Amino acid sequence: MPELPEVEISRRSFANALEGAELLEVQLGKPLRWPLGIAPQALQGARIGLAERRGKYIWLPLGPGSERGGLLLHLGMSGALTLDKGQAPLGPHQHLGLRTSRGRLVMTDPRRFGAAVWSAGLDLDPARKLLAGLGAEPFDPLLTGSALRKAWAGRRVAVKQALLAGDVVVGAGNIYACEALFLAGIRPTTPAGRVSLVRCERLLAAVREVLQRALQLGGSTLRDFSDAHGVAGAYQAQAGVYGREGQACTRCGGRITRIVQAQRSTYYCPQCQR
Ligand code: ZN
Repeated sequence: MPELPEVEISRRSFANALEGAELLEVQLGKPLRWPLGIAPQALQGARIGLAERRGKYIWLPLGPGSERGGLLLHLGMSGALTLDKGQAPLGPHQHLGLRTSRGRLVMTDPRRFGAAVWSAGLDLDPARKLLAGLGAEPFDPLLTGSALRKAWAGRRVAVKQALLAGDVVVGAGNIYACEALFLAGIRPTTPAGRVSLVRCERLLAAVREVLQRALQLGGSTLRDFSDAHGVAGAYQAQAGVYGREGQACTRCGGRITRIVQAQRSTYYCPQCQR
């Protein structure tokens, strides 16, 4: 599943290229998770603005000005965005094509949990509704360890699940949550409300570190993920715990353990993470 770094890398791979381009045609394949919400023809001739990211959503503003709203894109479980010349018809797993004066942005999504939804604005429905539950951006300087501590106070849910929920801080999906907890030395099953202030600070720093490293490396090497130029990530090869069940911990030499929390695999080192 594309996580925040992959989505950000995807955004960066086409945002500048398409800024200012004219939208010539919206091509639709099979239905995605939600309907587009507007007649594709109504978007013809729109001027594409600079794509932004919020959580795992990409907002593609359509102008001029804010009069045409924008498209909120989500890569779902298996989506990828690529730029092509836009000559050929959409392929069998390509369900959105934005043909522009500077090439075509194509969403390929075999499992079709992805989405492209038109909204009159980011702060207007349906975008507002879809973004409503999102916590702070991980690199938001206003987000601090004490804010994390405060938000988690009294929560009995495991800290790993609290991270995955994304309602306090977005971006720590399954791989990055496991890695950040390893870096911070925190047992994933610890109740969120019992993580001390010092450990909340350490955890937030660890979340930032793993996401930063993933961004530098081009994201996780997830089966279907590639950026708009088809470059697969190199992050997973460097994972400390994720996908390393039974292997030696890089820090203490102990064995990495796998457990299942809310149907997701959690990897951790029982000796380093307490
Ligand atoms: Zn260890």
